[in-house]
Amino acid sequence: MGKVTGFLEFERQEEGYEAPESRKKHYKEFVMHLTDEQAKIQGARCMDCGIPFCNNGCPVNNIIPDWNDLVYKNRWREAIDVLHSTNNFPEFTGRICPAPCEAACTLGINAPPVGIKSIEHAIIDKAWESGWVIPKPAAQKTGKKIAVVGSGPSGLAAAQQLARAGHDVTVFEKRDRLGGLLRYGIPDFKLDKGLIDRRVKQMEAEGVVFKTSVYIGEADLPKGVGTDAKEKITPKKLLKDFDAVVICAGSETPRDLPIPGRELEGVYFAMEFLPQQNKVNAGDKLRDQIKVSGKNVVVIGGGDTGSDCVGTSNRQGAKSILQIELLSKPPVQENKSVTWPYWPNKLRTSSSHDEGCSREWSVTTKEFRGENGKLKSMVTAQVEWKRDEKTGQMKMSEVAGSEREVPAEAVFLAMGFVNPVASLLESFGVEKDARGNAKATTDGVGCYASNVAKVFVAGDTRRGQSLVVWAIREGRQAAREVDAFLMGASVLPR
Ligand SMILES: Cc1cc2nc3c(=O)[nH]c(=O)nc-3n(C[C@H](O)[C@H](O)[C@H](O)COP(=O)(O)OP(=O)(O)OC[C@H]3O[C@@H](n4cnc5c(N)ncnc54)[C@H](O)[C@@H]3O)c2cc1C
Ligand code: SF4
Repeated sequence: MGKVTGFLEFERQEEGYEAPESRKKHYKEFVMHLTDEQAKIQGARCMDCGIPFCNNGCPVNNIIPDWNDLVYKNRWREAIDVLHSTNNFPEFTGRICPAPCEAACTLGINAPPVGIKSIEHAIIDKAWESGWVIPKPAAQKTGKKIAVVGSGPSGLAAAQQLARAGHDVTVFEKRDRLGGLLRYGIPDFKLDKGLIDRRVKQMEAEGVVFKTSVYIGEADLPKGVGTDAKEKITPKKLLKDFDAVVICAGSETPRDLPIPGRELEGVYFAMEFLPQQNKVNAGDKLRDQIKVSGKNVVVIGGGDTGSDCVGTSNRQGAKSILQIELLSKPPVQENKSVTWPYWPNKLRTSSSHDEGCSREWSVTTKEFRGENGKLKSMVTAQVEWKRDEKTGQMKMSEVAGSEREVPAEAVFLAMGFVNPVASLLESFGVEKDARGNAKATTDGVGCYASNVAKVFVAGDTRRGQSLVVWAIREGRQAAREVDAFLMGASVLPR
């Protein structure tokens, strides 16, 4: 363990931030990683408790106590090897993971938890700066060909694992750049896109072939799903040309709000807005970029996507930003005796919220109003949530007389994603579960395999809208199953 008395001696140290007023003027990352000395002190706080709940709380099961100890002892080179043994891309999770590991930290029961994510961030940044992250091409090739559909974190993780096992892997991506939501969902100020390019280079040196602007499927995509495709390949052809296919296509169908006025110009899906700004930051010239400078913006949906719309609207110079959520306001402080070591439902304030926005809960949207086809305002009402005595379910009712008209020239719908694009799964003949996700188990014989021979599914496509760290886990685990399917056995870790 780090230092035996470290948890008694040292405080939790947060990573440094650039001040909101100055960071709002640009789209660059603004979180600084810990210095070596600060990371060492955080590592020293780890108690190496008998059962490392953090390791279980982390979806990729990062071996956190081991790298905490190595960082405390200044053995960074070994720390990155341990970290990479469970996580292909710690530079992503060290920046944007909500850190369920920290909610599970034993020290967190009665003190601030170990800053696990900040140590992960420091280890991987040091590893890249020191030139320790190098390509690891397979010593022997198997001659097996695998297609991965989608280049998000699950597709990238699956591709890297499979290439390292000696397979010829081709990743097909319908967008013009790689990374899935890492590239065209999560804003640049949370994740610099150069980090994706750097990994892609490593993977190319390991033999992975990337094909962008290629759409796999037959039908047209639904509204709100982004594409830059210039070429289409049918599932039938893919299945003919490859020994296995892994569908890592995300969960892209956005939840809509079909109320009066939905058709007005000014009402957009969040995923129509966010990718455009990332493209512009990357140097693209867009003809019709959605811009909110000088506008009253309302973001509907209180989650991560909504918060990213807030941060981007502030950077574009919105006049006002209101974020509304249908559910009731969560408690400010969780009851640890009930929630630990699980992820608690509590009020979360993101760095984008700190940059300026009003937030309201228990608010429903009834109508969008406009003039000459353009959005001018929206009508909202307050709701109340009560448990139904008969069913035990929470039920919502509108508070009489609470209607009000809110000025809004731009509205972003950030209410989550219902499921993967149905036509993609249907074109492969892949069976869906009750929620419309690709159906496959995650344990036991045949896991991650769909009902269609040699077609595997992973990430948001299988589990529904989730987190980057879960996508990495699923990509890694699916890779092992594909390898075992092709070779009869696999030495890839789960
Ligand atoms: C705005 C936003 C912010 C988020 N912020 C965070 C965060 O801070 N932290 C966090 O942990 N998670 C966050 N998430 C969730 C996280 O990004 C996803 O859970 C994760 O990216 C899922 O990875 P994936 O590989 O399964 O799919 P995706 O990242 O969605 O990648 C799927 C890829 O497949 C491609 N594709 C789809 N269909 C086809 C086809 N037919 N042919 C070719 N290519 C295809 C898509 O274009 C896409 O590039 C956020 C999500 C959003 C929308
Ligand atoms: S990946 Fe996320 S949950 Fe796992 S150690 Fe890193 S921050 Fe914690």
